[in-house]
Amino acid sequence: MHKLKRLIFDADDTLWENNKFYVDASDSFFDLCVTAGYDKNLVINTFYDFELKVVNEKGYGSENFIYILEYLFAHFNNNNAKLNGDKFQHILKNFESHTINEPPVFPGVNETLKMLNKTFELYVLTKGNLSEQQKKVDRSGLKKYFKKAYVVLEKNDETYISIMNENNWKHSECCMIGNSPKSDINPALRCGMYAIFIPYPYTWKLDNEELIKDHSNLYEVKDITQIPQLLNGLFKS
Ligand SMILES: [Mg+2]
Repeated sequence: MHKLKRLIFDADDTLWENNKFYVDASDSFFDLCVTAGYDKNLVINTFYDFELKVVNEKGYGSENFIYILEYLFAHFNNNNAKLNGDKFQHILKNFESHTINEPPVFPGVNETLKMLNKTFELYVLTKGNLSEQQKKVDRSGLKKYFKKAYVVLEKNDETYISIMNENNWKHSECCMIGNSPKSDINPALRCGMYAIFIPYPYTWKLDNEELIKDHSNLYEVKDITQIPQLLNGLFKS
């Protein structure tokens, strides 16, 4: 790893908390439906099926998530069962607050990026709604550490290859760091990059898949603060 030049960071659930807001809003919505008499599994399955459809058709992001909640509120709120409208508005309001507030940056991220910035070029690669993700990077206060933030619609093999080609970067000089096996780690490894996996308990189910096992370019840390030490060790060896 002695030629490593660039570290590319995922943003949501790697630099700051994100999916927890979605999980909390979904759980509260399920409870709302169960209180009105619905079977929880029916609600969860309906929600996940519709979420997958919307993500495939319209993409990621909070606006589409709010659309899902509103659509399903109307779907489940009928003559047979009445959902509590005030509580639903409260769920929406709580969720929407995260789209306005400063993203909750994980402990140690600021200091770690400051340290890594002395040795490496740092980049962000995040997927989702362009303006929403860009605003999160702006609000995070971390922008000063990054040479550039890439916001893309999808993070797959083609995305990584196209960014490498566009910049004339050697894959073996780049390391992807993130919480998602599907979007961050596996495609980066398949493209010949290094990858550092930071597991996160609330990783979105649509972003999860089995990690490529026993890959010589793959490393794992408990949290971001362990990365400088990991890279130091690799440089020395
Ligand atoms: Mg992520």
